[in-house]
Amino acid sequence: MDCLFCKIISGEIPSNKVYEDEKIYAFKDIDPQAPVHILIIPKKHIDSLDEIDESDSELLSYILLKIKDLAKEFELDKGYRVVINTKEDGGQSVNHLHFHLLGKRSLQWPPG
Ligand code: AMP
Ligand code: ZN
Repeated sequence: MDCLFCKIISGEIPSNKVYEDEKIYAFKDIDPQAPVHILIIPKKHIDSLDEIDESDSELLSYILLKIKDLAKEFELDKGYRVVINTKEDGGQSVNHLHFHLLGKRSLQWPPG
């Protein structure tokens, strides 16, 4: 499959990995928008949040629990933001479901 993040998971494209297990892969964003900017992705290819179904619920809660662990590991004790850009209006540029974990600065609201 011609998917950038599937190629990152397989190692075909290098990445700055911060965590990996049998279900997920996490790595530093190449264009960080905050001092900590990590992407967390399922190893299973899912195009976007819009394509998930009931059978993915365990995987999705697993990802959120790991994000909480990563936030602790990266000392985001003052808080952080988790973002899932979805499809065109959501600003999604890579069509493999990914969670952004952003922290170590005060993030503004609303986003652009
Ligand atoms: P989104 O715009 O929500 O689809 O997020 C895609 C993210 O992937 C962006 O923040 C990019 O900076 C990031 N990105 C694109 N290519 C790479 C790469 N090769 N390694 C790490 N992050 C990447
Ligand atoms: Zn993929």
